[in-house]
Amino acid sequence: MNISINENYKHIKETYLFSEIASRVRKYTEQKPDARLIRLGIGDVTLPLPGVVVDAMNRAVSEMGVKETFRGYPPESGYPFLKEAVVRHYKDNRADIDVGEVFISDGAKSDIGNLVDILGNNEIIIPDPVYPVYVDSNLMNGNRITLITGNKENGFLAMPDQIASAGARVIYLCSPNNPTGAAYDHGQLRTWVEYALSTGSLIIYDSAYEAFVTDDIPHTIYEIEGADRCAIEVCSFSKFAGFTGTRCGWTVVPRKLLSSDGTSLNKMWLRRQSTKFNGVSYPVQRGAEAALSAEGIRQCMANIDYYRENASMLGDTLSGKGIYYTGGKNSPYIWLQCPMNMNSWDFFDMLLYDANIVGTPGEGFGKAGEGFFRITAFGTHESTAEACGRLKELL
Ligand code: PLP
Repeated sequence: MNISINENYKHIKETYLFSEIASRVRKYTEQKPDARLIRLGIGDVTLPLPGVVVDAMNRAVSEMGVKETFRGYPPESGYPFLKEAVVRHYKDNRADIDVGEVFISDGAKSDIGNLVDILGNNEIIIPDPVYPVYVDSNLMNGNRITLITGNKENGFLAMPDQIASAGARVIYLCSPNNPTGAAYDHGQLRTWVEYALSTGSLIIYDSAYEAFVTDDIPHTIYEIEGADRCAIEVCSFSKFAGFTGTRCGWTVVPRKLLSSDGTSLNKMWLRRQSTKFNGVSYPVQRGAEAALSAEGIRQCMANIDYYRENASMLGDTLSGKGIYYTGGKNSPYIWLQCPMNMNSWDFFDMLLYDANIVGTPGEGFGKAGEGFFRITAFGTHESTAEACGRLKELL
């Protein structure tokens, strides 16, 4: 062929992390085929969909098989019944948004990746360590990225004073965070919103793990006064309702968000979505609506409580050993400092070989993740309890 390509893709690092983990695990299990591995690296839910969601989806599928209730293409930005349920969900979290500001999608990852379509070549600020999609989607667009470091000193919560000079930027924040589990409190998030308002910056706020929040900290950035003038929020049913394989999420683009020349970001996102996206299937949106009903929230939270118990078992084990960690409380992730100053891949090997536990080396989430390690609460109670026992012996 004689076509050119988007050269920016050449700047993206290979996603070696999970393939490298798989290859080290394979090598070990070839040597020790009888080893009983416990996988604490998993970033995916393991409990099935709540019953109320399954029932709603079944009813919706039946409707699709009947002429009178069959539905064709859904509205690109989502059915009103689901958008209204999302608005009510925000009200419960003390945040006022309007139905026209909600855009239903097939998940947070797509929206995070696609938002670059409506933005120009701004300077991008991303905390490190980080969920890799923010960095890679901006590299694909040829944007200049400045990383700001999360570390033990700031509790893995990077703050605006780490940005060298004032100016309008696009800032990605993820709270509760993947991979560190750290979460901003109201004061910290207010500092970010004030910074964005005073510099004319845009915050892209990823609240995919908000359902895990237990402390009195924000579930949404719109709990902070002024956030509707500087922030887009992306959220997901994946971790809240177990939709990782079902696929549904939403993005809030407030009408008050205007670019430097006064263009409405809300209108641009609507234009972008109606051009390149054809909506989420009706049964999935009915399932998502059911997840946001009172009974749905009760059933979803029962699942989240199950994962929380795992997180607290793991946290107690690490505290008992005097090991520093963040997360675990408002998040399914626990981010621990590798003991004995080990680097994260050496610690990975030690856990694999000496305790048959598989986790995720922090270095895979960015340079600032070196020396740290992510374990997750998405296992069963039994496997997590057994992992805790093994960790107590090993560490
Ligand atoms: N945002 C963060 C921080 C995540 O960790 C993930 C998935 O692990 C996503 C977004 C993706 O969510 P979704 O399944 O809705 O695409």
